[in-house]
Amino acid sequence: MLPFRLVYHEDYDLNLGHHVFPSEKFRLIRERLLAERFAAPEDFVKPEPAPDEDLMLVHDRGWVQRMKTGTLSYEEVLQLEIPYSPEMVRAFWLAAGGTTLAAHLALENGVSYNVGGGFHHAYPDHGEGFCAINDIGVAIRRLQQEQKIVRAMVVDCDNHHGNGTAAIFAGDPTVFTLSIHQYNNYPAFKPPSSVDVHLADGVGDDEYLERLGAAYRFPIHGFRPELVVYVAGADPYREDQLGGLDLTLEGLMRRDLLVIETALREGAAVVVVLAGGYAINLQDTITIHSNTAKAAKQALDTIGWKN
Ligand SMILES: [Zn+2]
Repeated sequence: MLPFRLVYHEDYDLNLGHHVFPSEKFRLIRERLLAERFAAPEDFVKPEPAPDEDLMLVHDRGWVQRMKTGTLSYEEVLQLEIPYSPEMVRAFWLAAGGTTLAAHLALENGVSYNVGGGFHHAYPDHGEGFCAINDIGVAIRRLQQEQKIVRAMVVDCDNHHGNGTAAIFAGDPTVFTLSIHQYNNYPAFKPPSSVDVHLADGVGDDEYLERLGAAYRFPIHGFRPELVVYVAGADPYREDQLGGLDLTLEGLMRRDLLVIETALREGAAVVVVLAGGYAINLQDTITIHSNTAKAAKQALDTIGWKN
């Protein structure tokens, strides 16, 4: 049996207090997976904060410095939509280190799961929508720099368009970005991904899975990425407060299996990152993210990995 490693740090918590983004979800997911004996404590690997040099493979030096030194402008904090704190900064540096570590583990073991990350709304020179540092971009750029991979594909299934990621990799023939999202929702400005699937409000399981499969299977086969970054947002769920799609818990798990099994069949490793999730009942968000870990392990056991 292939090892299934999860990446987690207790300081992933963004320290947001009472906020629609439940930043305690990272800890709760770990606790759920342990309580259900899906994972043992030794399955979790602890990341270091990403070095500033890694962040600057994606982000402007000025943005990194203003984040570190607490010198963001009032407008920059407003656009971020989360309060500034040193704990928040550390959490974003750890998330980027965590996704990078999980990507390395995925290349070794086929699949790995960061119990965090997926901050797809962060642009090179600013943050927005609860995202300050784009861990997806940082991990891909770092692995390319190390020559561990040539091509990567981002499969962004969060309810919201992956605007920051699309902007980072615009015009880059080595990174294919796919975003499937509710069209009539944040962000208003959606810079084009390689493929964008704009969904109407209220789309349910069957239409979602059909359109995801159609947008994904052919491109991954042609593009032949070594790594797929699966942005496994929990917010397409029908009871999400910030989402307007109508997926069920079962539909979301079918989505997970579709993305991960297809990638493994095509010979691509998969790193899972979490992104959003704002269910009315927080326990549903924990269930959706925990189910993604289970789907990942199931896919790995079913399809296997070449290494
Ligand atoms: Zn979202």
